[in-house]
Parts: sequence; structure tokens; C-alpha cells
Amino acid sequence: MREITHFIDGAGFTGASGRFGDVMNPNTGEVQARVQFATEAEVDRAVQSALKAQIGWAQVNPQRRARVMFEFKRLVEARMDELAEILSSEHGKVIADSKGDIQRGLEVIEFACGIPHALKGEYTEGAGPGIDVYSMRQPLGVGAGITPFNFPAMIPMWMFGVAIATGNTFVLKPSEKDPTVPVRLAELMMEAGAPAGVLNVIHGDKVAVDAILDHPDIKAVSFVGSSDIAHYVYSRGTANSKRVQAMGGAKNHGLILPDADLEQATKDIIGAAYGSAGERCMALPVVVPVGQKTANEVRERLLAEIDNLKVGLSTDPAAQYGPVVSAAHKAKIEGYIQTGVDEGAELVVDGRGFQLQGYENGYFLGPSLFDQVKPAMKTYQEEIFGPVLQIVRAETFEDALALPSNHQYGNGVAIFTRNGRAAREFAQRVNVGMVGINVPIPVPVAYHTFGGWKRSAFGDANQHGMEGVRFWTKVKTITSRWPEGAVEDSAFVIPTMR
Ligand code: NAD
Repeated sequence: MREITHFIDGAGFTGASGRFGDVMNPNTGEVQARVQFATEAEVDRAVQSALKAQIGWAQVNPQRRARVMFEFKRLVEARMDELAEILSSEHGKVIADSKGDIQRGLEVIEFACGIPHALKGEYTEGAGPGIDVYSMRQPLGVGAGITPFNFPAMIPMWMFGVAIATGNTFVLKPSEKDPTVPVRLAELMMEAGAPAGVLNVIHGDKVAVDAILDHPDIKAVSFVGSSDIAHYVYSRGTANSKRVQAMGGAKNHGLILPDADLEQATKDIIGAAYGSAGERCMALPVVVPVGQKTANEVRERLLAEIDNLKVGLSTDPAAQYGPVVSAAHKAKIEGYIQTGVDEGAELVVDGRGFQLQGYENGYFLGPSLFDQVKPAMKTYQEEIFGPVLQIVRAETFEDALALPSNHQYGNGVAIFTRNGRAAREFAQRVNVGMVGINVPIPVPVAYHTFGGWKRSAFGDANQHGMEGVRFWTKVKTITSRWPEGAVEDSAFVIPTMR
């Protein structure tokens, strides 16, 4: 059986923990490889490699670091088909969606190609007599990233793209469920010209994560995953005096006002709810039509769209979504569907029991649709992360606005309307970090910044864009004086700019 090793100091590294994770093919339910789980000492080995590489890497001028990013982008683009195929076979998302996963990561690499500009400091000439003040952004040292299964290309690139371009070196701990693409990315980063140790990959579970969180030479940790783990990572990492950004789960709402283009809105919501089998932190699993008439019409339109949905193999170009990632996750989603029924929501379409002929052991689920979902229900309050769409009916704009605003998660939200004034007011008032106006999945472009609010993110720095640059650097401010003329007397009071 294929064994996936760590990647340390520019080469594959075979760990000796004797602990492994199975890497499944979600289409068939078969084990296709096993991935090594790191010990604390193996994590330390990766950190030592990164530490050794960091001083030299930080001295490489920003333009040369940017050239490595340009070349990395070219290499990844040249291998897009191969990488997307591997990604789909381990994750279960369809090939076109895997390409989107890689492409969204590359957009952050494109941002990182402009790092010389982003790293320019500030300068004040003549802040006082003969005094100039300027600032510079310097790398932190060794950074680490801990990433979820659902975007095994994009999220690692969000993190290491900006971290490496700003002069840090990096240790990545990707999800153990789909670990092959992250290792391929590290290999390509070396091929692109990054010295050994600039990007290391270690695989594993809580043992590896804890070793990262406790390691004195790791200065910053970026985490994306579920909220309880995000909170744990944030607490333990910051207790160890690290800089931590920890993105968590989500439950994104799509409001539909009565004046919206209902045909377009329902098509957008179907794609955003069921694409990637609902396994996106920016999926739209809750639709909130305003008014009963809108709700009834939206429900009918959703039903018609669901009728035409095609669930299939991740390799099937005609499939709109493939299997979910694991048997355990499939069972968890089915459990939520049963809970929804038990707590009194109306199960309009039941996706349980869906089977693909010849692939009966695959982790497939048909689309499910609930109506009459109420805010007090557990299935509304929690993240399901599967192909399950819930209709929560609201009577007024205010009622609809209150739903995402009061929810424990605050990652993304969308509003569908033709009324610019209502959209503007919504964007201003809603208590959520990323807002779409007639945009169902409002993932900001790479030169803006990604991050939710409330239990969707712990820490105060977002991913990528200038927030990413700030997260991965520390600022140094220099006050310089070149006096002219006579020697001045000693000053015993705090200097001020009179
Ligand atoms: P997860 O929390 O199970 O795993 C994320 C990472 O944490 C993995 O690398 C995993 O190995 C590690 N981990 C798991 N259990 C751990 C433990 N007990 N202690 C320490 N580390 C542990 O998440 P997942 O299932 O891989 O991904 C799905 C979740 O990620 C969803 O909740 C989704 O909303 C969220 N997500 C959020 C964003 C965002 O930007 N807000 C983006 C993508 C995914």
C-alpha cells in the first residue's frame, strides 16, 4: 500500500512513530493509502529545518522571494490536472471543483508575487528637527499552519503563500484525510527555487498539533477547522505566547427579499448549498425567504432544481457533487437529518439512502431539504457540513436580519434583492464577517481578506491580503536624528515634538 511520508528539509522523511491514518477513496469506501502520524520529535525535526533555513531566507530580497512565488504558480498551473485528480480522489469533490480549490489558492500566490510592494514600510520626513521616522515589516521566524480536509490546496496556500513571501519559513500540518496534495505543493515549492526547509509538511493528529502549539521556536500558528478545535488551538497557542489566528465552523444564511430575482437566487442557493456536498465553510445551508409568498415560491423553485441535481463520482464530469469525505461524516450528517425530523422540521426531500450503482460503499448522500426550521432547533444552531439545505421562514426584513446576526457562527451571509438601499443597510447592520449582495459565496478576492466573526474565528487577524501580511510580520519603527550645529543640552523630560 502507498505510504505518505512527511516532507522535511526538502525531501520525503519516513517517520518512525508506527502510527498511521487511513486515506480513503470516498467514491469506493476503500483505503487507498496510509499516512504517517508524526511524533513530537519529528515535529521538532521539521521546526529545526525551518529554523535553519529562516535566517538566509529572510535575507533573500523580497523581489527574489516573489520570483519563487511566480515560478511556484507556473509549476502548479502546469500540473493542475494531475493535482486536481489526486485532490478529488482523496476528498470526493468533483474535478472542476478541485481545480477551483487549487485556483483560489493560486490567487493568494499571485498576491504574494506582489510582496515587495506590500512590505514597503512607512516614512515620515522631518518629524522633528533633523528627525525622520520610518518603519519596516520583518518576518516572525518559523510559522505553522494546521489545515482542514475541505480545501487541501487553497487553505495551505492562503497560509504559506503569505508567510513564506514575507520571509518566514513554514511547517504545515495538513488534514490527515487528504494529505497528498499538500506534500506535492511543498515539492513544487522546492522545485520553484525555495531552499530546503522553507516549507516542511508533517502529518498527524493531536500529537502533532500539540507539538506545534508547545514548540518554543514556532512564533505564529494559523489554524482552519472546526470551532471547538479552533478555540483549543487559539487558547493553547496564545498561552504559549504565540500569535494565533484560528478560523472555525460556519452556518451561512442566504436571505431572499420579495423583490429578488427568484430564479437567479434559487439557482445560486442550490449551487452554494449542495456544491462540494455542502462541505464548505462558505456554503449556504440556510435560506431565509422574507414573507410567506416568497417562501412558497422559493420552496417550489428549489424542489425543481433539486430534481435535476446529479450526484456522482468525483471523476464524473456531469456530476454536480460527489461523495462526502468519510463514513463517519456521512453517518453524522444522517444523524442530523434524523434529529431535524425528530425536532419537528418538515423533511421535504430526504437524501438518505441514496446509492450509486456499483459504488454502494461510497459515501454518497442525495440532497436533503428541510422547511419550517425554527431558530430553537439543534439542527439550525449547529453546523451540519453536508448536502442539507434548511428553509427558515421570516416575516419581515428585521426578523431575517436577526437570524444570522444572533447565530453563534458569523462567517458569511448573503442577501438577494434588487433594492440597493435594503442591501446596503443589511451589509452595514448584519453581525457577520463576510457579506454577499446577490453573491452566494462571498469569499473575498485574495488581495482583500478572509475571516468570519463570533465562533467562526478566534484571534484578530484575517487570512491573506494586507491582514495576512500584518499577521506574518512584526513592525519595527526607527526614529533617526542627524543633529546639526551646536551640542544640545541633556534632556531629562520625555522628548516631545514641540
Ligand atoms: P477539524 O477541526 O476536524 O480538523 C482541522 C485540523 O485540526 C486538522 O488538521 C486535524 O488533524 C486537526 N485536529 C482534529 N482534531 C484535533 C484535536 N482534537 N486536537 C488537535 N487538532 C485536531 O476540521 P475538518 O473536519 O478537517 O474541517 C471542517 C471544518 O473546518 C468545518 O467546521 C468547517 O466549517 C471548517 N472550515 C472553516 C473555514 C474558515 O475559514 N472559517 C474554512 C474551511 C473549513
